[in-house]
Amino acid sequence: MKKIIILGSTGSVGTQTFDVAKKRGADVLGISFNKNVKLAEEQARELKVKYAVTPDEQAATELKIKLADTETIVKCGNDEIVSLASLPCDKVFNSITGCAGLDATLSAIRAGNMLALANKESLVSAGKLVSDEAKSCGVEILPVDSEHTAIHECMRAGNRCEVKKILLTASGGPFFGYDAQKLDGVTPEMALKHPNWSMGAKITIDSATLINKAFEVVEASYLYGIEYDRIEVLVHRESIIHSMVEYIDNSVIAQMSVPDMRHCAEYALDFPNRCDAVINELDLTKLTSLSFAKPDSKTFPMLDLGYEILKRGQGFGACVNSANETAVMRFLKRELAFTDIYRAVMYATEKLEGTFKCADDIEAINSILHDAHRYADEYVSAVI
Ligand code: MG
Repeated sequence: MKKIIILGSTGSVGTQTFDVAKKRGADVLGISFNKNVKLAEEQARELKVKYAVTPDEQAATELKIKLADTETIVKCGNDEIVSLASLPCDKVFNSITGCAGLDATLSAIRAGNMLALANKESLVSAGKLVSDEAKSCGVEILPVDSEHTAIHECMRAGNRCEVKKILLTASGGPFFGYDAQKLDGVTPEMALKHPNWSMGAKITIDSATLINKAFEVVEASYLYGIEYDRIEVLVHRESIIHSMVEYIDNSVIAQMSVPDMRHCAEYALDFPNRCDAVINELDLTKLTSLSFAKPDSKTFPMLDLGYEILKRGQGFGACVNSANETAVMRFLKRELAFTDIYRAVMYATEKLEGTFKCADDIEAINSILHDAHRYADEYVSAVI
Protein backbone atom coordinates (compact mmCIF):
# COMPACT_ATOMS: atom_id res chain seq x y z
CA MET A 1 0.00 0.00 0.00
CA LYS A 2 1.43 3.38 -1.02
CA LYS A 3 1.55 6.17 1.53
CA ILE A 4 0.92 9.54 -0.10
CA ILE A 5 0.22 13.19 0.70
CA ILE A 6 -2.14 15.26 -1.48
CA LEU A 7 -1.62 19.02 -1.34
CA GLY A 8 -4.49 21.05 -2.76
CA SER A 9 -6.75 18.00 -2.35
CA THR A 10 -10.06 19.83 -2.86
CA GLY A 11 -9.10 21.47 -6.18
CA SER A 12 -9.74 20.05 -9.62
CA VAL A 13 -6.55 17.95 -9.92
CA GLY A 14 -6.59 17.26 -6.17
CA THR A 15 -10.07 15.69 -6.20
CA GLN A 16 -9.16 13.59 -9.23
CA THR A 17 -5.97 12.46 -7.52
CA PHE A 18 -7.96 11.63 -4.40
CA ASP A 19 -10.36 9.59 -6.54
CA VAL A 20 -7.45 7.60 -7.99
CA ALA A 21 -5.90 7.12 -4.53
CA LYS A 22 -9.22 5.76 -3.28
CA LYS A 23 -9.54 3.32 -6.19
CA ARG A 24 -5.96 2.14 -5.64
CA GLY A 25 -6.44 1.74 -1.92
CA ALA A 26 -3.59 4.15 -1.16
CA ASP A 27 -2.93 5.36 2.38
CA VAL A 28 -3.44 9.14 2.32
CA LEU A 29 -1.32 10.40 5.20
CA GLY A 30 -2.29 14.04 4.81
CA ILE A 31 -4.22 16.58 2.75
CA SER A 32 -3.99 20.32 2.44
CA PHE A 33 -6.84 22.51 1.24
CA ASN A 34 -7.79 26.15 1.15
CA LYS A 35 -11.40 26.89 2.10
CA ASN A 36 -13.57 23.94 1.07
CA VAL A 37 -14.22 22.59 4.57
CA LYS A 38 -17.11 20.36 3.46
CA LEU A 39 -15.02 18.44 0.94
CA ALA A 40 -11.98 18.32 3.23
CA GLU A 41 -14.16 16.73 5.91
CA GLU A 42 -15.51 14.17 3.44
CA GLN A 43 -12.01 13.26 2.28
CA ALA A 44 -10.59 13.05 5.81
CA ARG A 45 -13.40 10.73 6.89
CA GLU A 46 -13.42 8.63 3.75
CA LEU A 47 -9.76 7.61 3.85
CA LYS A 48 -9.09 8.21 7.56
CA VAL A 49 -6.53 10.89 6.73
CA LYS A 50 -4.12 11.60 9.58
CA TYR A 51 -3.43 15.29 8.88
CA ALA A 52 -5.65 17.97 7.31
CA VAL A 53 -3.95 21.34 6.90
CA THR A 54 -5.21 24.72 5.69
CA PRO A 55 -3.71 28.22 5.61
CA ASP A 56 -7.15 29.64 6.50
CA GLU A 57 -7.87 30.08 10.24
CA GLN A 58 -11.63 30.02 9.95
CA ALA A 59 -11.54 26.89 7.81
CA ALA A 60 -9.24 25.20 10.34
CA THR A 61 -11.54 26.05 13.26
CA GLU A 62 -14.61 24.77 11.40
CA LEU A 63 -12.91 21.55 10.34
CA LYS A 64 -11.61 20.87 13.85
CA ILE A 65 -15.19 20.96 15.17
CA LYS A 66 -16.52 18.78 12.35
CA LEU A 67 -13.79 16.17 12.78
CA ALA A 68 -13.83 16.15 16.59
CA ASP A 69 -15.05 12.53 16.63
CA THR A 70 -12.21 11.32 14.36
CA GLU A 71 -8.47 10.87 14.76
CA THR A 72 -7.62 13.42 12.05
CA ILE A 73 -5.30 16.17 13.29
CA VAL A 74 -6.25 19.59 11.85
CA LYS A 75 -3.47 22.15 11.51
CA CYS A 76 -3.39 25.74 10.30
CA GLY A 77 -0.79 27.85 8.46
CA ASN A 78 1.41 27.86 5.39
CA ASP A 79 4.31 26.60 7.52
CA GLU A 80 2.22 23.57 8.44
CA ILE A 81 1.65 22.81 4.74
CA VAL A 82 5.39 23.01 4.19
CA SER A 83 5.95 20.64 7.15
CA LEU A 84 3.28 18.24 5.87
CA ALA A 85 5.13 18.00 2.53
CA SER A 86 8.26 16.87 4.38
CA LEU A 87 6.72 13.92 6.27
CA PRO A 88 8.17 10.55 5.22
CA CYS A 89 5.97 9.00 2.51
CA ASP A 90 6.13 7.36 -0.94
CA LYS A 91 4.92 10.37 -2.95
CA VAL A 92 3.81 13.95 -2.38
CA PHE A 93 1.21 15.15 -4.88
CA ASN A 94 1.44 18.92 -5.14
CA SER A 95 -1.72 20.25 -6.80
CA ILE A 96 -1.77 23.62 -5.06
CA THR A 97 -2.79 26.38 -7.49
CA GLY A 98 -0.34 29.14 -8.39
CA CYS A 99 2.77 30.65 -6.79
CA ALA A 100 1.70 29.39 -3.34
CA GLY A 101 2.85 25.88 -4.28
CA LEU A 102 6.57 26.63 -4.51
CA ASP A 103 7.49 26.31 -0.82
CA ALA A 104 5.79 22.91 -0.56
CA THR A 105 7.61 21.72 -3.70
CA LEU A 106 10.98 22.61 -2.19
CA SER A 107 10.04 21.11 1.16
CA ALA A 108 9.06 17.74 -0.36
CA ILE A 109 12.27 17.63 -2.39
CA ARG A 110 14.51 18.52 0.56
CA ALA A 111 12.88 15.78 2.61
CA GLY A 112 13.73 13.31 -0.15
CA ASN A 113 10.09 12.63 -1.02
CA MET A 114 9.26 11.67 -4.59
CA LEU A 115 7.23 14.55 -5.97
CA ALA A 116 4.20 14.25 -8.26
CA LEU A 117 3.93 17.80 -9.50
CA ALA A 118 0.75 19.39 -10.83
CA ASN A 119 1.86 22.83 -9.64
CA LYS A 120 3.75 23.83 -12.81
CA GLU A 121 4.16 27.32 -11.35
CA SER A 122 6.94 25.89 -9.14
CA LEU A 123 9.00 25.23 -12.27
CA VAL A 124 8.05 28.51 -13.94
CA SER A 125 9.05 30.66 -10.94
CA ALA A 126 12.06 28.71 -9.80
CA GLY A 127 12.84 26.05 -12.40
CA LYS A 128 16.59 26.14 -11.84
CA LEU A 129 16.36 26.15 -8.07
CA VAL A 130 13.82 23.30 -8.03
CA SER A 131 15.64 21.11 -10.53
CA ASP A 132 19.08 21.72 -8.93
CA GLU A 133 17.61 20.86 -5.54
CA ALA A 134 15.94 17.72 -6.91
CA LYS A 135 19.23 16.63 -8.46
CA SER A 136 21.24 17.16 -5.29
CA CYS A 137 18.63 15.40 -3.12
CA GLY A 138 18.28 12.54 -5.61
CA VAL A 139 14.54 13.16 -5.92
CA GLU A 140 12.58 12.29 -9.03
CA ILE A 141 9.87 14.73 -10.10
CA LEU A 142 6.95 13.07 -11.85
CA PRO A 143 4.58 15.32 -13.77
CA VAL A 144 0.83 15.44 -13.17
CA ASP A 145 0.00 17.32 -16.35
CA SER A 146 -1.39 15.54 -19.41
CA GLU A 147 1.33 16.70 -21.84
CA HIS A 148 4.20 15.99 -19.49
CA THR A 149 2.81 12.66 -18.42
CA ALA A 150 2.61 11.82 -22.13
CA ILE A 151 6.21 12.97 -22.67
CA HIS A 152 7.31 10.90 -19.67
CA GLU A 153 5.67 7.87 -21.26
CA CYS A 154 7.18 8.61 -24.70
CA MET A 155 10.64 9.06 -23.15
CA ARG A 156 10.55 5.43 -22.06
CA ALA A 157 10.85 4.44 -25.74
CA GLY A 158 14.49 5.54 -26.05
CA ASN A 159 17.51 7.06 -24.35
CA ARG A 160 17.56 10.72 -23.37
CA CYS A 161 20.59 11.37 -25.62
CA GLU A 162 18.59 10.03 -28.58
CA VAL A 163 15.78 12.57 -28.23
CA LYS A 164 15.64 15.10 -31.06
CA LYS A 165 12.70 17.17 -29.88
CA ILE A 166 9.57 17.32 -27.82
CA LEU A 167 6.30 17.99 -29.67
CA LEU A 168 4.06 19.59 -27.06
CA THR A 169 0.42 19.51 -28.08
CA ALA A 170 -2.06 22.30 -27.32
CA SER A 171 -5.83 22.18 -27.68
CA GLY A 172 -5.75 25.82 -28.78
CA GLY A 173 -8.27 26.74 -26.07
CA PRO A 174 -11.78 28.17 -26.48
CA PHE A 175 -10.63 31.06 -28.71
CA PHE A 176 -8.79 29.10 -31.36
CA GLY A 177 -9.15 30.93 -34.70
CA TYR A 178 -10.06 34.30 -33.12
CA ASP A 179 -8.29 37.49 -34.21
CA ALA A 180 -7.02 40.19 -31.83
CA GLN A 181 -10.13 42.32 -32.27
CA LYS A 182 -12.51 39.48 -31.46
CA LEU A 183 -10.42 38.60 -28.40
CA ASP A 184 -10.90 42.06 -26.92
CA GLY A 185 -14.54 41.45 -26.08
CA VAL A 186 -14.33 38.01 -24.47
CA THR A 187 -15.87 37.57 -21.00
CA PRO A 188 -14.85 35.31 -18.09
CA GLU A 189 -17.80 33.01 -18.92
CA MET A 190 -16.56 32.56 -22.49
CA ALA A 191 -13.00 31.95 -21.33
CA LEU A 192 -14.09 29.44 -18.70
CA LYS A 193 -15.56 27.10 -21.32
CA HIS A 194 -12.70 24.84 -22.28
CA PRO A 195 -13.51 22.56 -25.23
CA ASN A 196 -11.90 19.32 -23.93
CA TRP A 197 -10.73 19.51 -20.33
CA SER A 198 -12.48 20.17 -17.06
CA MET A 199 -10.11 22.15 -14.84
CA GLY A 200 -9.95 24.88 -12.19
CA ALA A 201 -10.67 28.53 -13.08
CA LYS A 202 -7.08 29.81 -13.07
CA ILE A 203 -5.71 27.14 -15.40
CA THR A 204 -8.73 27.41 -17.69
CA ILE A 205 -8.06 31.13 -18.22
CA ASP A 206 -4.36 30.33 -18.64
CA SER A 207 -5.36 27.84 -21.35
CA ALA A 208 -7.45 30.49 -23.09
CA THR A 209 -4.57 33.02 -23.24
CA LEU A 210 -2.15 30.16 -24.10
CA ILE A 211 0.14 31.15 -21.23
CA ASN A 212 -0.57 27.68 -19.86
CA LYS A 213 1.22 26.29 -22.91
CA ALA A 214 4.07 28.75 -22.39
CA PHE A 215 4.40 27.48 -18.81
CA GLU A 216 4.35 23.92 -20.11
CA VAL A 217 7.28 24.66 -22.43
CA VAL A 218 9.23 25.74 -19.32
CA GLU A 219 7.98 22.73 -17.38
CA ALA A 220 9.07 20.34 -20.16
CA SER A 221 12.49 21.91 -20.41
CA TYR A 222 13.22 21.56 -16.70
CA LEU A 223 11.63 18.13 -16.26
CA TYR A 224 13.47 16.55 -19.17
CA GLY A 225 16.59 18.69 -19.53
CA ILE A 226 15.72 19.70 -23.11
CA GLU A 227 16.66 23.20 -24.37
CA TYR A 228 13.93 25.58 -25.54
CA ASP A 229 14.85 25.30 -29.23
CA ARG A 230 14.04 21.58 -29.12
CA ILE A 231 10.50 22.04 -27.81
CA GLU A 232 7.82 22.68 -30.41
CA VAL A 233 4.19 23.54 -29.71
CA LEU A 234 1.58 22.01 -32.02
CA VAL A 235 -2.13 22.79 -31.94
CA HIS A 236 -4.06 19.53 -31.82
CA ARG A 237 -7.74 20.33 -31.37
CA GLU A 238 -8.92 16.82 -30.53
CA SER A 239 -6.79 16.37 -27.35
CA ILE A 240 -6.31 12.67 -28.05
CA ILE A 241 -2.54 12.72 -28.55
CA HIS A 242 -1.25 14.35 -25.37
CA SER A 243 2.27 15.04 -26.69
CA MET A 244 5.03 13.34 -28.64
CA VAL A 245 8.76 12.77 -28.60
CA GLU A 246 10.74 12.71 -31.81
CA TYR A 247 13.97 10.70 -31.75
CA ILE A 248 17.14 11.31 -33.79
CA ASP A 249 16.12 8.58 -36.26
CA ASN A 250 12.96 10.66 -36.99
CA SER A 251 10.74 8.14 -35.29
CA VAL A 252 7.91 9.94 -33.47
CA ILE A 253 6.39 8.32 -30.37
CA ALA A 254 2.96 9.63 -29.34
CA GLN A 255 0.85 8.91 -26.28
CA MET A 256 -2.93 8.66 -26.76
CA SER A 257 -5.78 8.30 -24.29
CA VAL A 258 -9.15 9.91 -23.60
CA PRO A 259 -8.67 13.41 -22.13
CA ASP A 260 -8.98 12.62 -18.41
CA MET A 261 -6.62 14.05 -15.79
CA ARG A 262 -7.04 10.96 -13.65
CA HIS A 263 -4.68 9.18 -16.03
CA CYS A 264 -1.91 11.61 -15.01
CA ALA A 265 -2.64 10.92 -11.34
CA GLU A 266 -2.73 7.14 -11.81
CA TYR A 267 0.47 7.18 -13.89
CA ALA A 268 2.31 9.19 -11.21
CA LEU A 269 0.91 7.04 -8.41
CA ASP A 270 1.69 3.70 -10.06
CA PHE A 271 5.04 4.62 -11.65
CA PRO A 272 7.29 2.74 -12.38
CA ASN A 273 4.50 0.18 -12.82
CA ARG A 274 1.14 0.32 -14.58
CA CYS A 275 -2.08 -0.87 -12.98
CA ASP A 276 -5.66 -1.45 -14.15
CA ALA A 277 -7.15 1.66 -15.71
CA VAL A 278 -9.11 4.24 -13.80
CA ILE A 279 -9.98 6.05 -17.06
CA ASN A 280 -12.14 4.87 -19.97
CA GLU A 281 -10.78 3.03 -22.97
CA LEU A 282 -10.00 5.04 -26.09
CA ASP A 283 -12.28 3.97 -28.96
CA LEU A 284 -10.11 4.58 -32.03
CA THR A 285 -12.95 3.73 -34.43
CA LYS A 286 -14.86 6.78 -33.15
CA LEU A 287 -12.05 9.17 -34.13
CA THR A 288 -12.73 10.86 -37.45
CA SER A 289 -9.44 12.76 -37.67
CA LEU A 290 -6.37 13.91 -35.78
CA SER A 291 -5.30 17.40 -36.89
CA PHE A 292 -2.15 19.40 -36.21
CA ALA A 293 -1.31 23.06 -36.85
CA LYS A 294 1.22 25.71 -35.91
CA PRO A 295 0.00 27.94 -33.07
CA ASP A 296 -0.89 31.60 -33.71
CA SER A 297 1.51 33.40 -31.39
CA LYS A 298 0.75 36.76 -33.02
CA THR A 299 -2.82 36.73 -31.73
CA PHE A 300 -1.81 34.92 -28.53
CA PRO A 301 1.49 36.63 -27.60
CA MET A 302 1.60 34.96 -24.19
CA LEU A 303 2.64 31.68 -25.83
CA ASP A 304 6.11 32.99 -26.64
CA LEU A 305 6.70 33.95 -23.01
CA GLY A 306 7.64 30.31 -22.32
CA TYR A 307 10.66 30.51 -24.60
CA GLU A 308 11.42 33.96 -23.18
CA ILE A 309 11.42 32.57 -19.63
CA LEU A 310 13.89 29.84 -20.62
CA LYS A 311 16.14 32.44 -22.26
CA ARG A 312 15.95 35.02 -19.46
CA GLY A 313 15.86 32.72 -16.42
CA GLN A 314 13.75 31.99 -13.38
CA GLY A 315 13.56 35.63 -12.16
CA PHE A 316 11.73 36.59 -15.33
CA GLY A 317 9.62 33.44 -14.92
CA ALA A 318 8.66 34.37 -11.37
CA CYS A 319 7.66 37.84 -12.53
CA VAL A 320 5.52 36.56 -15.43
CA ASN A 321 3.94 33.93 -13.21
CA SER A 322 2.96 36.23 -10.38
CA ALA A 323 1.81 39.14 -12.58
CA ASN A 324 -0.26 36.70 -14.63
CA GLU A 325 -1.85 35.20 -11.54
CA THR A 326 -2.86 38.67 -10.35
CA ALA A 327 -4.11 39.76 -13.76
CA VAL A 328 -6.17 36.57 -14.19
CA MET A 329 -7.87 37.12 -10.83
CA ARG A 330 -8.72 40.70 -11.83
CA PHE A 331 -10.05 39.48 -15.20
CA LEU A 332 -12.28 36.97 -13.40
CA LYS A 333 -13.61 39.87 -11.31
CA ARG A 334 -14.31 41.78 -14.56
CA GLU A 335 -11.78 44.48 -13.66
CA LEU A 336 -9.50 43.79 -16.61
CA ALA A 337 -10.04 42.99 -20.30
CA PHE A 338 -8.88 39.59 -21.56
CA THR A 339 -6.21 41.07 -23.82
CA ASP A 340 -4.99 43.31 -20.98
CA ILE A 341 -3.78 40.25 -19.05
CA TYR A 342 -0.76 40.20 -21.37
CA ARG A 343 -0.23 43.96 -21.01
CA ALA A 344 -0.34 43.75 -17.19
CA VAL A 345 2.30 41.02 -17.29
CA MET A 346 4.54 42.99 -19.65
CA TYR A 347 4.18 46.08 -17.45
CA ALA A 348 5.44 44.12 -14.42
CA THR A 349 8.37 42.65 -16.38
CA GLU A 350 9.45 46.13 -17.51
CA LYS A 351 9.33 47.44 -13.94
CA LEU A 352 11.33 44.53 -12.53
CA GLU A 353 13.78 44.05 -15.39
CA GLY A 354 16.82 44.95 -13.26
CA THR A 355 16.14 42.21 -10.71
CA PHE A 356 16.07 39.14 -12.97
CA LYS A 357 19.80 38.55 -13.34
CA CYS A 358 20.47 37.98 -9.64
CA ALA A 359 17.36 35.89 -8.89
CA ASP A 360 19.38 32.89 -7.67
CA ASP A 361 17.82 32.08 -4.32
CA ILE A 362 14.37 31.69 -2.83
CA GLU A 363 14.50 35.11 -1.11
CA ALA A 364 15.11 36.88 -4.43
CA ILE A 365 12.38 34.81 -6.11
CA ASN A 366 9.88 35.56 -3.34
CA SER A 367 10.66 39.25 -3.57
CA ILE A 368 9.99 39.21 -7.34
CA LEU A 369 6.76 37.25 -6.81
CA HIS A 370 5.63 39.88 -4.32
CA ASP A 371 6.62 42.91 -6.41
CA ALA A 372 5.20 41.53 -9.68
CA HIS A 373 1.84 41.04 -7.95
CA ARG A 374 1.96 44.69 -6.85
CA TYR A 375 2.91 45.99 -10.32
CA ALA A 376 0.17 43.98 -12.01
CA ASP A 377 -2.31 45.52 -9.58
CA GLU A 378 -0.84 48.94 -10.34
CA TYR A 379 -1.44 48.33 -14.04
CA VAL A 380 -5.04 47.31 -13.40
CA SER A 381 -5.67 50.46 -11.31
CA ALA A 382 -4.31 52.58 -14.14
CA VAL A 383 -6.60 51.07 -16.81
CA ILE A 384 -9.80 50.85 -14.73
MG1 MG B 1 -1.40 20.47 -19.47
